[in-house]
Amino acid sequence: MTSDCLFCRIVAGEIPATIVRETATTLAFRDIDPKAPVHVLVIPKEHYADVATLGQADPELAGQVLATAAEVAEAEGLLADGFRLMFNTGGYGGQEVFHVHAHLLGGAPLGPMLA
Ligand code: C5P
Repeated sequence: MTSDCLFCRIVAGEIPATIVRETATTLAFRDIDPKAPVHVLVIPKEHYADVATLGQADPELAGQVLATAAEVAEAEGLLADGFRLMFNTGGYGGQEVFHVHAHLLGGAPLGPMLA
């Protein structure tokens, strides 16, 4: 828990979020400013700044984040038509919250990646 981290505070229940799935090590909740009909953020409960840090420090936990994202994609009915899963990372990647999170986006055609 990092007390000044927004997503650590969501994990701790100090800031409200619409949680769609929770495991022992991960949490998935709806983005407050959705960019698609389905926009869910999937995070490890443990604090890592970004996916590069997480992937090198704890690949098993990184896999658990992916597994939770896949479970949410299935529960949200995204498997048939497809979806996008992405990790904004660092300044050039447009990351704003420095607690690693996967954006799960779907429910409509999303267009080219960088459009
Ligand atoms: O990848 P990036 O760091 O830019 O994304 C942060 C995301 O966190 C944004 O999509 C924003 O809408 C979301 N957010 C949220 N709940 C908050 C604060 C930010 O879902 N309380």
